[in-house]
Amino acid sequence: MTHNCVSVHEYLEYLKTAANEDRFWYIKEGKTVRPSLSNSNTQTGNMANFRYKAASGSDRYVQVCEWKGELRVDLREWNGDKPTKNGISLTLMRWMNFVNAIEYVGKTVEQKLSYGNHLGGNVLCNVAKNSVYVDIRQYWKPQEEVVPTKKGLCLRPSEYSRLKQWISEIGRALPELDGVVPCYLQGDHMNQLGALQCSECNPDDFTKW
Ligand SMILES: [Zn+2]
Repeated sequence: MTHNCVSVHEYLEYLKTAANEDRFWYIKEGKTVRPSLSNSNTQTGNMANFRYKAASGSDRYVQVCEWKGELRVDLREWNGDKPTKNGISLTLMRWMNFVNAIEYVGKTVEQKLSYGNHLGGNVLCNVAKNSVYVDIRQYWKPQEEVVPTKKGLCLRPSEYSRLKQWISEIGRALPELDGVVPCYLQGDHMNQLGALQCSECNPDDFTKW
C-alpha cells in the first residue's frame, strides 16, 4: 500500500522551500473549452478532459477538468506537459467552499492571523499565523492525529491573488456550480447525526455513527 503521508517536520520543510522559490502564477491566456461529457476519453478512464485551462508562465496551473466522470477544479504544478503530484483536485463542492471563504482568507492574511477551514473530506485550507501563504491540502488520519499529505499546493501571494481574480472566469466555465448545494445545507444535515454520518463533514469517523 502506498500513500503520500509526510511527517509534520517534512511538511514544514516543504512549506519553507515553497516559500523561498519565487515562481509566479501567471495566467496568460484563459480558454474555455467545453467538450461534452459523453465525449470524454473513455478508453483512458482517468484521462482528464480539460474544460478550462488557465495557462501559467511558469509551472502552476488551474484548470477545470473531468476526472473519472466528475468535474473538478485542479490546482497543480506541471513538469512540461505532465502533471506532478504537487497539487490538489477539488470536487465542485470543496471548490465552492473555498470560493465562499476566499475574502475571509484574504483578511486573515492581511491581519497576520492563522486560519483553518475544512473544505470537506479532510481537505483543508490553512494560513499559518504571520504567513502570507495559503495552503490547500489533503490531510488524512493514519492514527491519532490528522496529518498533511503531499497532495496539495501552497499558494504564494501572487498566485492567490490571481486565483481570486479568475474565480468568476472559472465560474463561467463551470455553470454546474449553480446546482451544487453544500452538504451542510442539505436536509439530512439539519440534525447533528446527519453531519456526523457525512464523509465530507466527518471524514475520519463517519463510519462510526
Ligand atoms: Zn456533510
